[in-house]
Amino acid sequence: MPKFPGIKGIFLDEDPLIRQSSKGVKGISIPGCGLKKSGLKKDESAYINAKYIRKNSPKLPEVSEPTVVRHFTRLSSWNMCVDSVFYPLGSCTMKYNPKINEKIASLENIKNLHPLMPVFSIQPVLKIVHDFNKVLCEFTGLAEFSFAPQAGAAGEFSGLKIIKKYFDLKGEHRKMILVPDSSHGTNPASSVLAGFTPVEIKTGKAGMLDAGELEKFISKDIAGIMITNPNTFGVFEKDIKKIAEIMHQNGSFVYMDGANFNAFLGSAKVSDMGIDLIQLNLHKTFSTPHGGGGPGSGAIGVVESLRDFLPVPYVKSSGEDDNNGNDAITITAMAINNSNDNKNKNCCRTFYELAEDKKYTIGRMAPFLCNFAVVIRAYAYLLSLGRDNIGSVSEIAVLNANYIKKKLGVILSGSDPFEEGFCMHECVFNDKGIEENGISTLELAKLLIDYGFHPPTVYFPKNIHGAIMIEPTETESIRTLDNFIKAVKEIRFKTKKSKAIKSPQRTKVGRVNEVLANKQPVFRY
Ligand SMILES: *Cc1c(COP(=O)(O)O)cnc(C)c1O
Repeated sequence: MPKFPGIKGIFLDEDPLIRQSSKGVKGISIPGCGLKKSGLKKDESAYINAKYIRKNSPKLPEVSEPTVVRHFTRLSSWNMCVDSVFYPLGSCTMKYNPKINEKIASLENIKNLHPLMPVFSIQPVLKIVHDFNKVLCEFTGLAEFSFAPQAGAAGEFSGLKIIKKYFDLKGEHRKMILVPDSSHGTNPASSVLAGFTPVEIKTGKAGMLDAGELEKFISKDIAGIMITNPNTFGVFEKDIKKIAEIMHQNGSFVYMDGANFNAFLGSAKVSDMGIDLIQLNLHKTFSTPHGGGGPGSGAIGVVESLRDFLPVPYVKSSGEDDNNGNDAITITAMAINNSNDNKNKNCCRTFYELAEDKKYTIGRMAPFLCNFAVVIRAYAYLLSLGRDNIGSVSEIAVLNANYIKKKLGVILSGSDPFEEGFCMHECVFNDKGIEENGISTLELAKLLIDYGFHPPTVYFPKNIHGAIMIEPTETESIRTLDNFIKAVKEIRFKTKKSKAIKSPQRTKVGRVNEVLANKQPVFRY
């Protein structure tokens, strides 16, 4: 039976191009190049190792240009993405990514870089990595960052390896890392990978870690604590300074999972909170597209005493002091200190190299320096915001989340587990409200697709019953938020169970068997 793609929604079983192939069909036709045949030997094996020479030509689809264009244009619309819909996926900071970042990352000189190019030919690239490092130091109050880790979890792993190496060198065998139950799932996983045993601490009633509770766990076996702040409930850890003091008195480290940095970017420094190490997810806070398992950057930052443990290589500058006239640093410093004095703008002669001279380095965390395409996007994002707007990123992100918290708190009455007080960049509800209407969290998520919204994060954090976790981010307008709230209101008060179990209905494919899709994925058509 022929399959018709239609024009709306998701169509998950369109034939792949190879099935649309007809022998002899050409996508493009171009005239011959007019060059004479070379005098090279015909036998390829003279140039290429025989085992790499294919015996049969590859089976490539033979299709026309419009077939290819239409196929991929349709494919590109299958996903719900941040360019097409509101994407309030809690814990993921799915903010809209300004297209200027893409434009900069695709400039010829940048997209054609090769990691093995000699350093003298990539001085501006190294300068950007170097300067952006300083910007992050300015934002956090820490001493140095490494861009080697290519995901948030890889940043965590690097940080924990540093802590491990620190104690190993000291001859102390501290085996445990404290992990609050409000932490991201990657935290205990990274602890185990780095050779520690994670020890769970329960969060108090207000969704915060209690310093008193923490004291009970302190011993010389504790290497550190991994704390997400604001935590995955969207709550700021008010006791953070006290927690850091307790840890430091015990000679332990405070690692902060900084994936939620969007909540206070440009408004507070983690060094003031007593943090020793942090990873920043550039692919969240600094507006790089993510979510498809694509490239990321979990830049890891440390205090002065741990600088020598960072991964190698790193960008080292020599020559004149390059702090003067560094636009990005000046902008950042001004944003944080709210000052207006423009320092001197003289340019300086500095040479940048890729150095490996870190005495206690944990080694390489990436094949080369970093995911430069992500770093350059982050840098472009920052510079295009400008100093006046950096602080407003977190202000609006927090405002939007609180707007949702208040408005939905009323609709989903009694289902906000932290009704008291304000949240930071995201808010979380339990399923009490919708349950009264016979609708489950999963059904709410599926129904929202029919309203044209990407579902929020569901059933996470695990300790909130039927959790619905919403992170609107700063890039959404009040109009979008109001529409979303209206949709939830209709679902809560007007939607029948019979409709809920069938949702989504406005997509070409309705409810899929998620368990089967996970257990028996079909990769080949
Ligand atoms: C996203 C996230 C991580 C993991 O980051 P990845 O880049 O996906 O590895 C860790 N912690 C928190 C709080 C997060 O939101």
